[in-house]
Amino acid sequence: MKEEEIYKKIIPRPTSRFLKVVCGKCKNEQIIFNKAATYVKCLVCGNELAQPTGGKAKIKAKVIHVFE
Ligand SMILES: [Zn+2]
Repeated sequence: MKEEEIYKKIIPRPTSRFLKVVCGKCKNEQIIFNKAATYVKCLVCGNELAQPTGGKAKIKAKVIHVFE
């Protein structure tokens, strides 16, 4: 195995994905990015759906679908 391949295995790469979430307040369905660098709010009621953490966003809404 090449050294490069070993590094790929031991260092988990954060995967970028789009998620379909449901707002906990108004049940609005919204598509958000799981590596959002800014706060993501519900377009209907303004409830916070995702919080930036430096890498992967902290999802605060219920995820109902993950787009591969
Ligand atoms: Zn909402």
